Amino acid sequence: MSRVRVLLLNQALGPLDYRVPYGMEVEPGSIVLAPLGPRQLTGVVWEADRLAAESVGDNRLRPLVQAYDLPPLAAPLRRLIEWTADYYLAPTAAVLRMALASASALEGGRTVTEYRATGLVPERLTPQREQALERIGERQGLCRELAMAADVSDAVIRGLIKTGAIEAVEVSVDDPFPTPDPDHAPPALEAVQREAADIFVEAVRTPDFAPFVLHGVTGSGKTEVYFEAIAEALRRGRQTLVLLPEIALTEPFLKRFAARFGHEPVAWHSGLRQSQRRRAWRAISTGDAKVVVGARSSLFLPYRDLGLIVVDEAHETSFKQEDGVQYHARDVAVMRAKLERIPVVLASATPAIETRQMAEIGVYKEVRLPGRYGAAELPDIEAIDLIAEPPPRGRWIAPRLVTEIKETLERGEQALLFLNRRGYAPLTLCRHCGHRFQCPNCTAWMVEHRLVSRLACHHCGHVMPPPEFCPECKEPDSLVPVGPGVERIADEVKALFPEARTAIVTSDTIWSPAKAAEFVARMEAGAIDIVVGTQLVTKGYHFPNLTLVGVIDADLGLSGGDLRAAERSFQQIAQVAGRAGRGEKPGRVLVQTHEPGAPVISALVSGDEESFYAAETEARREAAMPPFGRLAGIIVSSEDLAEATETARLIGRTAPNVENMAVFGPAPAPLAMLRGRHRQRLLVHAARSLDVQDVIRDWLGKLEWPRGVRVAVDVDPYSF
Ligand code: ADP
Ligand code: ZN
Repeated sequence: MSRVRVLLLNQALGPLDYRVPYGMEVEPGSIVLAPLGPRQLTGVVWEADRLAAESVGDNRLRPLVQAYDLPPLAAPLRRLIEWTADYYLAPTAAVLRMALASASALEGGRTVTEYRATGLVPERLTPQREQALERIGERQGLCRELAMAADVSDAVIRGLIKTGAIEAVEVSVDDPFPTPDPDHAPPALEAVQREAADIFVEAVRTPDFAPFVLHGVTGSGKTEVYFEAIAEALRRGRQTLVLLPEIALTEPFLKRFAARFGHEPVAWHSGLRQSQRRRAWRAISTGDAKVVVGARSSLFLPYRDLGLIVVDEAHETSFKQEDGVQYHARDVAVMRAKLERIPVVLASATPAIETRQMAEIGVYKEVRLPGRYGAAELPDIEAIDLIAEPPPRGRWIAPRLVTEIKETLERGEQALLFLNRRGYAPLTLCRHCGHRFQCPNCTAWMVEHRLVSRLACHHCGHVMPPPEFCPECKEPDSLVPVGPGVERIADEVKALFPEARTAIVTSDTIWSPAKAAEFVARMEAGAIDIVVGTQLVTKGYHFPNLTLVGVIDADLGLSGGDLRAAERSFQQIAQVAGRAGRGEKPGRVLVQTHEPGAPVISALVSGDEESFYAAETEARREAAMPPFGRLAGIIVSSEDLAEATETARLIGRTAPNVENMAVFGPAPAPLAMLRGRHRQRLLVHAARSLDVQDVIRDWLGKLEWPRGVRVAVDVDPYSF
């Protein structure tokens, strides 16, 4: 009789053994359906010697229900799942869940009903219907999606379906994806680009692990260079994964890719609907999807024959997952490449110190593109000292920046103002009694969002209507917004330049790839003069007519003082500065700051990136901070404050006495309350040589805590 070990998609369960019924064929990696009590769960057959299970006598084994007709998960992916679970101290099943895309990829019907416009004009054409048809254009999707794309209610779409202006289309999850053509429209590369591309092409031809850092200033043509590596993978019939940090970036990327390769790649992100997800997952597992572009979760998909991984904007902190399995996609990408024995390219204009260090010691090979492509020059960066040249009271744009914006508009060019703060004002205060509006669930202020007229907590999503009077002292007209968010800056811009067409770009206004595409189209058509945006606009966009960038508050990122504050600030400003002057017209960047002498600012102004990084790296080395030492956060949370505190103290008290390791805390976590849970934090600081995961596993494994308490370990934390 054959007996197999199965890793089930249930975090609370360890692997279990099953009997393989007569006639069923399974091997390690096979995706199966297994009985559990009265239920049936999806799982994957695993090598019995790699995961321990409770031992059960042969006669008590239950038979598997079914083996899915899908390719088994390959050994390198199984090893990646184990490694990720091990390294990030996460349940193996939770990592497996990402590979199977929560199994939604496996279940459900084989066809979906989508809708598209027929071109018929309905008899009764209301303004809403007109807007809907206009915005839907060629788009096809679920009723809900069309409604969202057109900014109308579902009812409008359903009404249009009745009139025949929109029709239903059946889509099969087995419909193939077109294969991109490596020779569709290759660019003529510059000599430096050619040299860099050749290195990657050679690596794609060699069946070996090869980690690269593609380090080139913004606009240096990195994308064109790694496209050559993708072309080579395509010629060899192998798959490529391109990881992007932000869903908002996928749409422009898809277009650009299609221009080079004739067809769009397969997109994978959280915005996909079930049917798309299922179709993409299948095509990835059969090898039919040749190029996949996705957010971090696409890293765990079951590629049939992966030949190359590219991590674009590799320095981005959004690659760090902060919920569930708290992994860093950049690091897992390198591990996957190692296990698959393929090249991985980390592309960035501002590589992280961790990445630079790996290049420094020769583990990663650095490939540089020193200048911008073609005639484009890097923009000139200047600081505006807010103490010497302050904006008028109640305003945030300094006179010099106002003048620059004016001149930019007069030349018919576009300007971008950057402030990394959503909403209108970060705090609302009662002038009379001092009352501040705080989130009831979090240690955070309620942020005013005037566009949608409400206050919102950026941590838990709690919202309330804008208050008319102070709840404390009941004084009318005493509430004042404190400080600016992008909406407030946009108001200031409108007051200064009433004729200019402005756009606000934040996750509130660009919440879908369709919205991002719309923004890009309007920018390209010159329908926007001034963009006011958060970090969302710092990424990847290429607008040749954008020549002025103003950074409203360069000091914002420096407060808080965590390990990466200065580095992150540098990256963010360098990236947003990189949006200026990407075409033939030169760009100019003005950075407003209270501290023009701060190392970050002087590095940006002088362009002396190297000494800034050298100093930052040295400081980390001296303090034995990452990448020279290791950190792990232990977050203890509970709805009950006493329980959280007691458990955290218990963990603190039982900290093992290990050489080369120190434990700090417990102390209230930076967000002491989050979504109604009180949070305490311990920070473990260890030498690189120490297997800190092993120590923590051992330590926490011996402890018990009340049911309502959650203990999460954040290995290589980003926020602490
Ligand atoms: P990066 O990714 O380094 O920011 P991009 O790859 O986006 O730079 O290149 C910047 C601009 O220069 C883009 O508009 C791109 O199309 C153009 N470009 C880069 N290399 C070439 C080339 N060899 N031929 C034509 N255009 C190029
Ligand atoms: Zn909240």
